Amino acid sequence: MTASPSDWFEETLYKGFRTRYRVGEILHETKTHHQHLVLFRNETFGHVLALNGVIQTTERDEFIYHEMLTHTPILAHGAVRNVLIIGGGDGGMLEEALKHKTVTRVTLVEIDAGVIEFSKQHLKSICGDAFDDPRVDIVIGDGMAYAAETEHRFDVVIVDGTDPIGPGEILFTEKFYAACKRCLAPGGVLVTQNGVPFMQGDELQGTIRALRTLFDDASCYTATIPTYVGGCMAFGWASDDPSLRVAPVSVLRDRFAAAMLETDYYTPDVHCGAFALPRYIERIIA
Ligand code: SAM
Repeated sequence: MTASPSDWFEETLYKGFRTRYRVGEILHETKTHHQHLVLFRNETFGHVLALNGVIQTTERDEFIYHEMLTHTPILAHGAVRNVLIIGGGDGGMLEEALKHKTVTRVTLVEIDAGVIEFSKQHLKSICGDAFDDPRVDIVIGDGMAYAAETEHRFDVVIVDGTDPIGPGEILFTEKFYAACKRCLAPGGVLVTQNGVPFMQGDELQGTIRALRTLFDDASCYTATIPTYVGGCMAFGWASDDPSLRVAPVSVLRDRFAAAMLETDYYTPDVHCGAFALPRYIERIIA
């Protein structure tokens, strides 16, 4: 879609439901090889990135999503050295994962080089200098192919893809989750961006059903991100070590203190609370 300064950017991700953001200024709009990309400024959310008409991240609330999808698995695991991020072209997940000094390597597999180039220029407040960190490997390619073929093994795999539209569709399949399991090191954790269950419950249900056929333990946890409208967002969780999902808050507090992380959303208590699911989400994943 094309937005002009006098317009409102409209997102229609769900049937019969539309949200609008006033476009203060269009900072960049292009058609990359894979998708339509627009960055605009909004008086409430700052810089807003949208792909194929769907909001991906905003300067104002990106911290919630990126902190919860990195610190939760990394601190629950306790000895993460290698992280794989599938998607994540805006660099926010990368920037957050790199805050862990114990992490020696982060591999980011992004299908669209245009998103990375663009984010380096226009989304510095989200990615910082993450892409230049010597611990980072950037792979331009499909996350499905990478996960199926890589010889590397990872302690945490973070699926930071778009919604199951276009290139993101494959990232919601059992075939992809099996490939992620393949490249997890023993005792590793897979976490996934899994939409807003109140609006996209079938996506979450499909993911958890697939994860339960592949892993000894699969569930989800939640956080509320204002621009992922419709209620809290769910993050898929899967591991062959069931103890990781119920890491005691006392252990998490010690690890959080040792990591000396500066956060604006994540705390060890929020981590534990995020796995306490409302009844309607328990029913979706039952
Ligand atoms: N926070 C956002 C959300 O919750 O929807 C995701 C942000 S990030 C920008 C999503 C990235 O996934 C995009 O840069 C997109 O190009 C990338 N992507 C989509 N499908 C992919 C695939 N099959 N392999 C690798 N990257 C993919």
